[in-house]
Amino acid sequence: MKGISILGATGSIGTQTLDVVRNSNDDFKLIGVTANSSVDKMKEIIKEFNPKYIGMMDADSAIKIKEFCLENNFKVQVYSGMEGLIKISTLDEIDIVVTSVVGMIGLKPTIAAIEAKKDIALANKETLVVAGELVMRKAREEGVRILPVDSEHGAIFQALQGNEIKDLKKIILTASGGPFRGKSKDFIKNVTLEEALNHPNWSMGSKITIDSATLMNKGLEVIEAHWLFDCNYESIQVLVHPQSIIHSMVEYRDASIIAQIGSPDMRLPIQYALNYPKRKEKVAKEIDFYEITSLTFEKPDIDTFKCLRLAFDAGKKGGLMPTVLNGANEVAVSLFLNKKIKFLDIADIIEDAMTIFEEYTHNDITIDNIIELDEKVRKYVINKKG
Ligand code: NDP
Ligand code: MG
Repeated sequence: MKGISILGATGSIGTQTLDVVRNSNDDFKLIGVTANSSVDKMKEIIKEFNPKYIGMMDADSAIKIKEFCLENNFKVQVYSGMEGLIKISTLDEIDIVVTSVVGMIGLKPTIAAIEAKKDIALANKETLVVAGELVMRKAREEGVRILPVDSEHGAIFQALQGNEIKDLKKIILTASGGPFRGKSKDFIKNVTLEEALNHPNWSMGSKITIDSATLMNKGLEVIEAHWLFDCNYESIQVLVHPQSIIHSMVEYRDASIIAQIGSPDMRLPIQYALNYPKRKEKVAKEIDFYEITSLTFEKPDIDTFKCLRLAFDAGKKGGLMPTVLNGANEVAVSLFLNKKIKFLDIADIIEDAMTIFEEYTHNDITIDNIIELDEKVRKYVINKKG
């Protein structure tokens, strides 16, 4: 039985990971879980799984969980703040950490988990975007596996099995295109928050749903793929595939292409990451090819969906530029979710931040430099737009 911690257990990926654990026939024991402030959801997790360690980022929520555990006789250690996230990531009893918090808040706990030699099932893409070089180097040094949970990267990872990375010619990263696929800039400039949150194929947390609508999600995934698979940006092609059935593909030097195909259900890549290299009973609906009328493909429109271009630019510039891209995006998406800015402002804010902070991006890639620059970028965007 593998011991497991889930960072962000109350979110979309966290909840689906719990479902995989629930159906795993005791392959996993849930030892630690974290959340920010979802007290009620955490109580349900405690009642069902009885984990030994809980981290609530929010201090008041940690107190409420402590009281609940005392009143109901649950023997649980409750922590709060970043210290809690790090503690839950490094427990002696665990073998693997699922990083499913949203945003670059996942950076420190991910690094701590690697240093404690825990395998990582990585959903938290923002961490790889800002610190891919550090995370992958540390993982190599510590002999730790980074197992991708993101469906595209899970697909690429599967398509690479049994092959050699030196034979890889191209990664074909598929994208649904989001709710505004095919729409003009004129149409998109007035879309509402509710329309942007209405993703055609996937049900996800609000931040990644907006990222999917702007195509920033695909941009972040391009940078994620660059680090996970040691692939240069020229060899990563984004392909819009609205049905989200082909989760991504890999082209080898002999021009053979291997794709991974499955239902759009995140429990599939989560289960594969947790059990790698073994395969387990199905968690998702199988594909019936008689029912699929067509699989279609399009080139992404990077003039309308500028975020994708900005992410390629940031990735190619390298250094700390992805930190600027990510920090500006996290703040811009949060402003949009709070109805403070319009949809197209998101890309403009990021582009502006990338120009303003250009000179800061040549500093060494260290955790301290990433966090310092991220804070500067966030302050700048909030002062200008918040
Ligand atoms: P959600 O918003 O649904 O969940 C986020 C989780 O992180 C919650 O448990 C939340 O706790 C916790 N959290 C939020 N803010 C903080 C904070 N400041 N400190 C500590 N914990 C925090 O997100 P998703 O599950 O959709 O996404 C998680 C990550 O996985 C993202 O990086 C996303 O890009 C990636 N991903 C998601 C996919 C999906 O299908 N959802 C697919 C592929 C990747 P609380 O409930 O208390 O707020
Ligand atoms: Mg994805």
